[in-house]
Amino acid sequence: MTVDGNLVVDAAGCGPPGRCPQCKHPAIRVHSRYWRQIPELPAGGRGLTVRLHVRRFFCDQSQCQRRTFVEQVAGLTEPRRRSPLAARSVMRAVATELGGRPGSDCARSCGFTADGLRCWRNW
Ligand SMILES: [Zn+2]
Repeated sequence: MTVDGNLVVDAAGCGPPGRCPQCKHPAIRVHSRYWRQIPELPAGGRGLTVRLHVRRFFCDQSQCQRRTFVEQVAGLTEPRRRSPLAARSVMRAVATELGGRPGSDCARSCGFTADGLRCWRNW
């Protein structure tokens, strides 16, 4: 689908339950689900955002201090990282070569979405 002229792809984590990042035990129960917006590299001159439906799991190990954790999708998400993996290297190169406003204008012209630009500014 398109939103404001940008491409939006819906996806969902559907693999086996992940492992607790603290105790490494596999999860059994789903706590909840929610949507994450992941800005990706532009496609066809349009901004691209992946809307990923992720699961939050319970960690049922009594000796573990972690109660819940969110699944990670290989190649798409990493814990505590807001910027998109694929776009990171491209935006870093643009920032290094052009810097500030010119880099931001270039990225916008290449189709990076507002979310992608926000991630870039947060580096
Ligand atoms: Zn755990």
